[in-house]
Order: sequence, then structure tokens, then C-alpha cells
Amino acid sequence: MTRLTERALGAVLGSAVGDALGAPFEFGPEGAFSARFPCPGYGAEMCGGGGWDPGEATDDTQMAILTAESLVECGGLNLPDVFHRFQRWAAAGPKDIGLQTEAVLTSGDPWDTAAALHFRFNQRAAGNGALMRAAPSAVHFARHGRETTMTAARRLSALTHGDPAAWEGTAALHELIRVALTGADPLTAVPDTLSALDPTHRQRYAVVLSPGWHPDQATEFNGAVWPCLGSAVWALRTTGSYEEAVRAAIDLGGDTDTVAAVTGALAGAVYGLGAIPARWTEPLHVPLPGFAGRVLRARDLARLTERLLGPDEPATAPSAPRP
Ligand SMILES: [Mg+2]
Repeated sequence: MTRLTERALGAVLGSAVGDALGAPFEFGPEGAFSARFPCPGYGAEMCGGGGWDPGEATDDTQMAILTAESLVECGGLNLPDVFHRFQRWAAAGPKDIGLQTEAVLTSGDPWDTAAALHFRFNQRAAGNGALMRAAPSAVHFARHGRETTMTAARRLSALTHGDPAAWEGTAALHELIRVALTGADPLTAVPDTLSALDPTHRQRYAVVLSPGWHPDQATEFNGAVWPCLGSAVWALRTTGSYEEAVRAAIDLGGDTDTVAAVTGALAGAVYGLGAIPARWTEPLHVPLPGFAGRVLRARDLARLTERLLGPDEPATAPSAPRP
């Protein structure tokens, strides 16, 4: 397996694992995860609760997988196809769905105007719902470089989020994951990433991505795009492993599944699949409401990730020497 494949699998599976691990703690208080699981490596952290089975991934990963399957099956970015997959899923009654996402997907408006119309009438559409599904598209577009990756990110986020602030945050996350996939440090890429953002939104991201920022300084609930991205980068910056980063993210409380999904995508890309504990990937499963009762397991996510990388990156070529 190449290092790129290792990191890509880390991003996609790392995000899904963070989501499933954080879901039972959603809207809970700070420190709830480490109060229950004080010793890293204890083993029972994939505990379920709050309506979720142990290892069950939520809407975050479900929407990520729908995006991934569209990219693979369409051979690239097909925005109406992604939107229609989201609509089909939303209509099937998933256990959870973001308020803003649900309003847009069930509005009956066309794919290219639904989110914009929702934003025009509500004026609040900067939730973290496009950040949480970023890992597959970041992996898919990484080989095309920064500009293509960030443009694709903005367009994918605009399917459900009409606020350009959400597009810019999603573009920033894609770029940080892309940098990590190359083996470079995404934290040192923050200034360049900020410079690639729309100037209107740059300053607000500069605040939450600065080395001195702490999630306690957030001016919004972490269901909003700015503190969610800032918290994920903070978790990566202040810890030394995938496991520690995800634990720190869930311990922030609030929108724990999404903050951990975003943190897991970044930390997974940095540390690679090998850093994600097998006791967390084994129970992982992703139901896909609206898609014939399919439930994806970790090995299915791995196969999908290999296809996202394209034909140049065979992860399990039988003749490839093992490291
Ligand atoms: Mg969720």
C-alpha cells in the first residue's frame, strides 16, 4: 500500500469512525467522553447510545458515502447526481439529518437553486453540514491540486448550504486534507490556505485557525462552520495521535459527531489508516437509507476510497510488495 493510499483510507475511515464515536455524546457537556473512558485504549468506547448502535455512523458519514459513490459512479463531479442522491436519502427518513440540509433537500426546488433560495429567505446557512462530508471529495480531487480541490469543495457545499461562509470553510478543510495526503503538515499550510479563501471570509477563518485559538473562544455553537473547523484544527494541533485528536474533539461537547468526523478526516489523513484503532473500525457500519437497505462496513469504505483515488493508486494490487 502506498503512503497516499494509507492516508486516503485514514481520511475516509477516520472521519466515519469519529462520527460513530462522537454520536452518542451529541449535545452533551464538555469532558463527557474522557469522564466515561478515562484511559485511552480501554476498548469499549464505541459504545452506542442516543438512538445509535455501537459503531453506527450518522448522517455525516452517510452523506459522505453518497458523495463518494456519485464521484466514483459518474467518473467525476456531477452536481445534479449528488443532489438527487441526497434527496433520495432524505426522503427515506434517515435517523438524523441537519435542519438546514433537510429544508433544502425537501423544498422541491431544483438542485442549482434550492440552497440559494433557502439562504435568501433564512439568512442563516453557515452550519457545519458540508464540512462533515468532505473526506471523499478531498481524496478524489487531491491529485488535481489546490485550485481544483477548493473549487469542487465550494460547489459540493453549495448544494445544501447557500451561505458562502460555508463554502469557504469547506474549501479550507478540503485543502488541509489535500496537503496532509501529500505527507506535508496541514498546520503549516494554514496561511497559504487562508490566502486562497474569498477575502470577504478570510479574517473570520484566520481567527479560528490561528495557533492561539481555543474552542472556548468560539462565538457560536460548534454546529456552525467556523468553530467546527477551528475545533478540528485545534484538536489536531494540540494532540499527537489520531486517537488523542478524536478524543479531544468529542470532549468539547456540543455537535460531537460532526466535530469528531471533521477532526477524524484531518487526523486520519495525517496519521494514516494504521493509526486508527482496529477496535474502532471493526464495529463501524454505515446504513444508507433509501438505497435498498445497504449497510457499508469498513472494508466497503476502503474499496470505495481506492476507487476515489483512481486507477493509479491500487491499494491492494496482488503483486505489490508489502512494506
Ligand atoms: Mg450526524
